[in-house]
Amino acid sequence: MVSAADLEKIVGSDWVVTAKEQTEPYKVDATPPAMMPKAAENVIVVKPATAQEISSIMKLANQEKTPVYVRGGGTGMAGAAIPTLDGIVISMERFDKIEEIDTKSLMAVAEAGVTLGQLLEAADAKNMSFPPHPGDEGAQLGGLVVCNAGGARAVKFGVMRNYVKGLEVVLPTGEIVSMGGKLLKNNSGLPLLHLMVDSEGILGVVTKVVLRLYPRFPGTATMVVSFADRTEAVNAVPAILQAGVIPLAVEFMDKEIADLTANYLGMTWPAQKGTAYLIVILSGANEDEVYSQAEQVAEVCQKHNAVDTLMAERREEQSDILKIRSEVQSAVSPNADSLDTAVPPGDVAVFMNEVDKIAEKYGVKIPVVGHVADGNFHHILKQEIANMGILSDIKDDIYALAIKMGGTITAEHGIGKKGVHMLDRYTDDRQKQIMRDIKKAFDPNNILNPGTAIVP
Ligand SMILES: Cc1cc2nc3c(=O)[nH]c(=O)nc-3n(C[C@H](O)[C@H](O)[C@H](O)COP(=O)(O)OP(=O)(O)OC[C@H]3O[C@@H](n4cnc5c(N)ncnc54)[C@H](O)[C@@H]3O)c2cc1C
Repeated sequence: MVSAADLEKIVGSDWVVTAKEQTEPYKVDATPPAMMPKAAENVIVVKPATAQEISSIMKLANQEKTPVYVRGGGTGMAGAAIPTLDGIVISMERFDKIEEIDTKSLMAVAEAGVTLGQLLEAADAKNMSFPPHPGDEGAQLGGLVVCNAGGARAVKFGVMRNYVKGLEVVLPTGEIVSMGGKLLKNNSGLPLLHLMVDSEGILGVVTKVVLRLYPRFPGTATMVVSFADRTEAVNAVPAILQAGVIPLAVEFMDKEIADLTANYLGMTWPAQKGTAYLIVILSGANEDEVYSQAEQVAEVCQKHNAVDTLMAERREEQSDILKIRSEVQSAVSPNADSLDTAVPPGDVAVFMNEVDKIAEKYGVKIPVVGHVADGNFHHILKQEIANMGILSDIKDDIYALAIKMGGTITAEHGIGKKGVHMLDRYTDDRQKQIMRDIKKAFDPNNILNPGTAIVP
């Protein structure tokens, strides 16, 4: 195994951490505690500052066959960043520079340890925007890329994959490679860059990213539309899209969760009427365009028996609503697991009703929030479900339902370490073997994040 002294020779003694109490924070992420993989005892945390240093670490780790785990913001929810074998954690915290916000090519070039919050701020300062908003702004760009994060604002502009145009990557064998660039079109060879996106950190260490930006939307508004009936609420969503309005985001929350989260944050949920809410975020070239979209959304929702419509136009009001939506997971805790299934968007109402029947069968309540226009839901399984010993039965039922409906067991959080056995169940043998072969081509000694994202 690579020793701390070996690593100190590469990065200097200030950037190698071995004291147990200081390595502990690197052994957990945002996975619900009941699903958190058990971390290894002997972990060395190393904090390199350049791709060359990471290259030297990977070469050494390969020689010694020492497992390496890359640590981004630690906001992953599938246990992917947890070091489960004795080895090295590479923390990306010193890769924190934004090299360029290029307003001519509409691209950002940044080191992989820059956080989403930092990128949003830097883009905003140049009148640009980065539309995706996976809930936690502490996530790092490298983590967002390899997890292909989605989040609320995927409806109009898509998930991370749609923004990643270039990458610098240190391969597990130590070579530093550059993929893509500030290019909107690029068809040269097999798309290795897109293999890195959603690789969950098992194919290489991302050190630099080139991301597409958009001009800052001059007009934005956030609507909260209240319904007395959940099915009416979710059925209004395809009707909004059919009417020709493509919002940045359409989120679903019920009253219980909205009030609970607002209380938890010491805030007030703005809607008073109804029990099921759509949060609709609109963007446009100017205020008039957004206003006209809002009128169309309100009209469609009225046809679906909406009982109230609120519109927040000031930035602070809009970000308060988004904050309440983003903090649901923390407010509902302790929870045993948060699922991440998706079904075809047109089948959302059926899926939600069927999950209710599963909950009824087990005599429990399963709160749900979701990126409803994407067909992607987070069913929150509370700790009491784990205490009753029925956690895996309920999960199996919901996963089987999603698959039966042509859906997926994870739409954005990924397989990580917590979902490998489910990937095994729902993937055919040929595809499992291709995934293993790809991993081997990148990482012949299986040193980078073993036990993650593919079936061994
Ligand atoms: C409150 C909250 C809300 C969230 N909402 C959403 C949401 O709406 N949508 C969504 O998609 N996700 C969401 N997430 C999950 C999470 O933010 C994303 O998965 C994010 O992409 C993880 O990034 P990270 O930097 O924290 O990665 P980490 O958790 O540190 O790591 C995740 C994986 O990426 C690898 N990795 C990290 N950095 C690199 C790198 N530079 N090179 C190679 N591998 C790397 C790690 O090894 C690990 O395998 C949410 C999380 C929280 C806590």
